[in-house]
Amino acid sequence: MSNNNQSSTEKYSDFSFQYIAGEWQKGQDDSVNTDTNPFNGETLVEIKQATQSQLDEAYKAAEIAQIEWAQTSPAERGALLHKVVSILDQRQDEIVDWLVKESGSTRIKAMVEFSSARAITVEAAGFPSRVHGEIRASKIPGKENFIYREPIGVIAVISPWNFPFHLTQRSIAPALALGNAVVLKPASDTPVIGGLLLAKIFEEAGLPKGLLNVVVGAGSEIGDAIVTHDTPRLISFTGSTSVGKNIGELANSGNTIKKLALELGGNNPFVVLKDANLDNAVKAAVFGKFLHQGQICIAINRIIVEDAIYDDFVERFHAHVKTLKVGDPNDQDTAIGPIINEDQLKSIKDKIAKAKDAGANMIMSGEIEGQVVPPHIFTEVTADMDLSCNEIFGPLVGIIRAKDEDEALKLANDTEYGLSSAVFTEDMEKGLRFARGIKAGMTHINDITVNDESNAPFGGEKNSGIGRFNGEWVLEEFTTLHWISVQHEPRNYPF
Ligand code: NAD
Repeated sequence: MSNNNQSSTEKYSDFSFQYIAGEWQKGQDDSVNTDTNPFNGETLVEIKQATQSQLDEAYKAAEIAQIEWAQTSPAERGALLHKVVSILDQRQDEIVDWLVKESGSTRIKAMVEFSSARAITVEAAGFPSRVHGEIRASKIPGKENFIYREPIGVIAVISPWNFPFHLTQRSIAPALALGNAVVLKPASDTPVIGGLLLAKIFEEAGLPKGLLNVVVGAGSEIGDAIVTHDTPRLISFTGSTSVGKNIGELANSGNTIKKLALELGGNNPFVVLKDANLDNAVKAAVFGKFLHQGQICIAINRIIVEDAIYDDFVERFHAHVKTLKVGDPNDQDTAIGPIINEDQLKSIKDKIAKAKDAGANMIMSGEIEGQVVPPHIFTEVTADMDLSCNEIFGPLVGIIRAKDEDEALKLANDTEYGLSSAVFTEDMEKGLRFARGIKAGMTHINDITVNDESNAPFGGEKNSGIGRFNGEWVLEEFTTLHWISVQHEPRNYPF
């Protein structure tokens, strides 16, 4: 979807401010977020961070602005979202460039992400006219029951760095379309593409002041405060399970009760049964594992292969991975770019060391240069090894041998997580049976684990979260019900 208007549009600039109450203001904290390019270390922007009192100002502005916004017509809110879609199209190259330079996305991944963010914005543009209530019969003579679906109020959005543009937009576009206001805290590694640039887009589209606030701050200053504040009615958090659990506890520890939408970590199995089309399975396994260097919550985390085809699969998988271009994410054909930051890099090095110590067979590795980790493949990995038990978030993979279909299913379910999953087989009855046996929010037959469609429910089971995004599921999540009854004729009370 290349666009021709980009050259006539001035690029957004100066991302060193907070966006609060519809104004771009300097952060008042002493600390500075130095936002860098993970591939070459270049400083992109320095942002003075927000204080708790600025966060409070953002919540106050959101609370006031939301009341009027909820009264606007569905047509007005729909039109605003359509305007956002046209700005996305106009600024596609600019958005993709920010994804590459700030989040280390390859151009391939940046386009996948742009398309997902665009799709949920189009979907959300239809939400205002899809919201509907009900009239229910009453057991009481002369009474009518009306059930109204209303905005929920102010929503706090906390988003991660890995798919920052889409994972932020999939909360804020539906939230605003449905008459809510938002206070957003983007991840510290991606304050621009995960927050400030979206604020510029919504501002350009004409969103009234105060409805979207972007607060860039240190976890130590505003991390707890954004969750415990009295104003938000719902916390929409996407990130790790450990932080999500903490947020779950904190959210209801203050004065007000809050709803939670938690999209957390995964340990997604990719299962290849013996009757699979091996060519297709290999291509899918490579893309589903290595897209964005494996730093996706729904990336393949474990490959489980039935014994009868294990050696064949490993050989073909290895051959395909050897063809991947590793390095500068800005090159059109790079498949594997940099890891987001030094902490994540350290965790990946630690996982490589642990896999070797545990006796996994490393059939492919390479020199780590800067933050770029070449693909590492381990075979004869067992269920008790760290590579099988924990989320990897890097270009490493363990291939596990299953003696048969039953064992493959047991292995697939042998995890605290239940986000995405995949199974390859040529037998659809078997595929459906297997898929339904997996305890997860999402299972894809003959495809990768990485799928997100704006009209299909996205979310996890077990420790992968609560709630679902997209389509009518997020519509319900970000609204609430109000039962209003009308007693048309006098009622007979017992006394
Ligand atoms: P993270 O949990 O470290 O951070 C997520 C967000 O929470 C960031 O904005 C961060 O600044 C903020 N945060 C961190 N500590 C906080 C605290 N104590 N209070 C309030 N906010 C806090 O996760 P990450 O490293 O940014 O992202 C990777 C993780 O996210 C992986 O586990 C991945 O699986 C998960 N994830 C899940 C989904 C999903 O849809 N299920 C999507 C993407 C990522």
